[in-house]
Amino acid sequence: MQPLPYFQFRDFPAGLEAQVQQALLEAVAGKQYVLGPQVQAFEQEFATYLGAGAAVGVGNGYDALVIALKALGVGAGDEVVLPVHTFIATVNAVLQVGAKPVLAEPDKHTYNLTAETAARHINPKTKAILAVHLYGQVCQMEGLQGLAQSQSIKLLEDAAQAHGAKYKGQQAGSFGDAAAFSFYPTKNLGALGDAGAVVTSDADVKAFARKYRNYGESQKYTSEQVGINSRLDELHAAVLRVKLQLLDAMNAERQRLAQVYLQALQNTGDLILPQTAPDCEHVYHIFNIRTKYRNELQAYLQEQGIGTAIHYPVPVHLQPAYTFLGYKAGDFPVAEELASTSLSLPLYPGLTEPEQQRVVEKVKAFFSKV
Ligand SMILES: *Cc1c(COP(=O)(O)O)cnc(C)c1O
Repeated sequence: MQPLPYFQFRDFPAGLEAQVQQALLEAVAGKQYVLGPQVQAFEQEFATYLGAGAAVGVGNGYDALVIALKALGVGAGDEVVLPVHTFIATVNAVLQVGAKPVLAEPDKHTYNLTAETAARHINPKTKAILAVHLYGQVCQMEGLQGLAQSQSIKLLEDAAQAHGAKYKGQQAGSFGDAAAFSFYPTKNLGALGDAGAVVTSDADVKAFARKYRNYGESQKYTSEQVGINSRLDELHAAVLRVKLQLLDAMNAERQRLAQVYLQALQNTGDLILPQTAPDCEHVYHIFNIRTKYRNELQAYLQEQGIGTAIHYPVPVHLQPAYTFLGYKAGDFPVAEELASTSLSLPLYPGLTEPEQQRVVEKVKAFFSKV
């Protein structure tokens, strides 16, 4: 049996790779390389797709978070409320701008930050809420928008795992004062290397981000503000334009594959399967299952040649590098349970039916023995 890795790039929809190669050739012939016409066109097309005012292409998702936080005026002395169950980049970005990350428990069922859990941490120092649309499901945004408005604080979305996901028919990344996207290759919309975008409908945030990503320049060699270099390359933008056209088709395939798992794995052992909240269209960046036999199941699948992943094995508050934040084991029981029970199954556009059946059979075989 061929090993089945947790993730692989496949030519899906068929012809994607040829289209990507063609776009690359054209971008090479354009000889612009950085912040040229491909970037401009992608920014326009992505903003239109999201129903947002503007997208500003940057170097990666982390920079998008940092630039968005800065654009919203978050800095030293400010607190930012964010979920403890997230990728480390979210909390890192808050520290990068000199603010204090204040961690909040996720919801038990959606694994996302909610207005209820965020509200417990709001005080006069709170400058923003940073909501993460984890695994491809948008947070319950109505509550979070209401909370941010009533407290006169900013709302920022980390949409790095939620390209094309919707809540009440509206696109992830179009709810907050700003949103950060990553186009890391494995994301639902991925470049051929590092890339990201700040998305906003606020003209001031847009203006700040456009300057800040390029040394603060408003025009060549005139810096109106201090900035950094976090520019988007033409080659990435050209590829992203092709893949944006196919994003809905790729997400629909992820949803179809998720339905197969959801059907086949119901009532299997103690498995807890992902739940989609009523107003959400989940895009399954990650298909997460939970079991108290997580480590044993992962080892068994590995023996059977099936790769899996854990998102995330150590919650932010227990990461060795972040002990200075002052948290301890037991502070976030929901997140700690997620960390010890979560397992991500292979799910990506192009995963074949026999491959997926093999995963299903082996998971079931494992639970028939425990
Ligand atoms: C991937 C990711 C990021 C960071 O994006 P990079 O492009 O890798 O810097 C931030 N937040 C979340 C939730 C992510 O999944």
